[in-house]
Amino acid sequence: MALIVQKFGGTSVADPEKIKAVAERVMKNAANGNKMVVVLSAMSGETNRFVNLAHQMQDHPDPREYDMLLATGEQVTISLFAMAVKAAGMDAISLLGDQVKIKTDGRHTRARIKEIDTDLIKKYHGEGKIVVVAGFQGVTDDDHITTLGRGGSDTTAVALAAALKADVCEIFTDVEGVYTTDPNICNKAKKIEKITYDEMLELASLGAKVLDIRSVSFAKRYKVPLHVRSTFTDTEGTWVIEEDQQMESLPVSGVTYNKNEARITISKVPDTPGTASKIFTPISDAGIVVDVIIQNTRSGDLTDMTFTVPLADYDQAMEIVAKVAKEINAESYGGDKDIAKISIVGVGMRNHAGIATTMFRVLANEGINISMISTSEIKVSCVIDEKYTELAVRSLHDAFELDKDNPAKPN
Ligand code: ADP
Ligand code: ASP
Ligand code: MG
Repeated sequence: MALIVQKFGGTSVADPEKIKAVAERVMKNAANGNKMVVVLSAMSGETNRFVNLAHQMQDHPDPREYDMLLATGEQVTISLFAMAVKAAGMDAISLLGDQVKIKTDGRHTRARIKEIDTDLIKKYHGEGKIVVVAGFQGVTDDDHITTLGRGGSDTTAVALAAALKADVCEIFTDVEGVYTTDPNICNKAKKIEKITYDEMLELASLGAKVLDIRSVSFAKRYKVPLHVRSTFTDTEGTWVIEEDQQMESLPVSGVTYNKNEARITISKVPDTPGTASKIFTPISDAGIVVDVIIQNTRSGDLTDMTFTVPLADYDQAMEIVAKVAKEINAESYGGDKDIAKISIVGVGMRNHAGIATTMFRVLANEGINISMISTSEIKVSCVIDEKYTELAVRSLHDAFELDKDNPAKPN
C-alpha cells in the first residue's frame, strides 16, 4: 500500500467525460489499496477566461480580488471529480486550499507555500476516502485566498507530496513526459526517460512549461520522486530524480523557448557609478524580476542599458522606466514585446567547449539575429525576434542531434 499524489492538468479535466475518465484511473489505484490524493487544475481555458473577465473590470486588477476570482476554476473540477467517484460507487471528498490549510505568504497572484497542515487529509484517508484538493491556491494567516502563479497546481501537488511524505508524485498531462523540446512545436522531440532535478529546474525556468519551476524546487528539496506522464495512455513517462552515476550527462539535453518576456532599452544614460542601481532598484521594489541585462559600451560617457522583464509586468516596468529615464537624463527609452528567449540546457556543457558557438552558428545560418546573450555553467540563452521561435528551436534540436539516441558531442 502506498500514498500516491496524482495531479491532473487543465486539458486532462477539460470536460465531464474527461473528468470521469480521470476518476476511473484514480479509482483503480484506490481499489488496489493505495491512499490517494488527487490535485486538479481548472478546466483548460477557464483560468484564461477569468483573467480576461478581470481585465474588463480594471486595467490593473486588484490582486486580492484577482486571486479570489482565479481560485474558482479549481473548485469546479474538484467537486465534479468527487461526484464522478461517488457515482461509480467509491468515496471521495473535495477540499479547497483554505480547507486543507495550505498556508502561503500574502503575495497575491504569486504566493509561496509556507506550510501545509496534513491532519484533515489524514483524517479522510482514515475514513477510506479519495481526497481531492484544488490546485494553485492557498490561504494567508489572516484568511485571504491566494494563488500561486500560473501553472501552480504542479506546485500544490509536489508540496502536498512532500508534506505527506508520499511515495510518489505523478504529474499527468497532455504529453507523455518531459521531451528534449516542446513536442507540440518540434515533431522530432524525444521523450527523456530520466532527468535530474537540476536539469529540470533549468528547463522549467527557461520555458519548458510541462512542470512549474517551483514544483521542481520542492521536489528537489524534499527528494520527492516525480513522474511526469500522459493522462491518456499508460506509457511510462519521465522520472525527475537525483543525479545517479549511470546517468549520462549530455552536453545539451534540451532546447527551450520563452515568449513571455519583453525587452526594454534605455538609451544614452550617463555611464557613471550608481546608474544601474537607480534603474533597477525601483523595478525590483515593484516585485518585477529582471532577467537578461546588457549594458553596451559607448564612446564618451554615455551608455545603453537593455534588459528583459516578464511580459505580464511590462506596462508597469515601462511606467517606472519613464520616471527613471527623466531622473537620470537618459536620451530616450523604448520596448519590444515581440521577442523570444531560446535556450539550450545540459549539465554536460560544463565539460565541453564550443557549445555556445555552435548555437550562434546555427542561428546565423538561419538568418536569425541575436539581440542578447546570457550564459551559465549549464545553459546558453539568446534573445531573438519572436517570429523565428519555431525555426530556431527546430534548427537547434537538429544541430545537437537531440532526436538521436547517441547525439554527437561537439569537440
Ligand atoms: P497541464 O495543463 O497538464 O499542466 P501544461 O500545458 O502546463 O499542461 O504543460 C504541458 C505542455 O508543456 C505540453 O503540452 C507541451 O506543449 C509543453 N512543453 C513545453 N516544453 C516541453 C518539454 N520539454 N517537454 C514536454 N512538454 C513541453
Ligand atoms: N489553473 C491554473 C492555470 O491555468 C493553474 C494550473 O493549471 O496549474 O494557470
Ligand atoms: Mg501546467
